[in-house]
Amino acid sequence: MAEERLYGLFLKAKENETRCIERIHGGGRWPSFHQCHRKRGHGKDGLYCKIHDPEVVKAKAEAKDKAWHTKWDYERSKEELSRLEHEAHQPMLEALKNVKKNLELQGLDVPGLVGNIGYQEVCAAIAKAEGK
Ligand SMILES: [Zn+2]
Repeated sequence: MAEERLYGLFLKAKENETRCIERIHGGGRWPSFHQCHRKRGHGKDGLYCKIHDPEVVKAKAEAKDKAWHTKWDYERSKEELSRLEHEAHQPMLEALKNVKKNLELQGLDVPGLVGNIGYQEVCAAIAKAEGK
């Protein structure tokens, strides 16, 4: 004899053999589970509807899990990048200031002079880095 499946409040409802065997929580105060209203024909022995086919349910859960991990990896890489930028900020600014000073010491800060290539950009980058 096949396994008897019961549904409803106090499990008093018998299985409808044309419908999916999934138990759906009634959402009420009592633990009441009614049988899924959809027609069966999917999954193992064709006992499930399209939505409750265990393979579909599993695939859906896996896809959700994968999406969550992808999002988590993305957030983590964003944090990592922001940390690197933060750490690099001060040394880069110091390096630029040294380059600027060096160009000025060599008299290469005069606009239009051959050899002052980069001086304007260095000044602009320093100003930007200092929030000016
Ligand atoms: Zn169902």
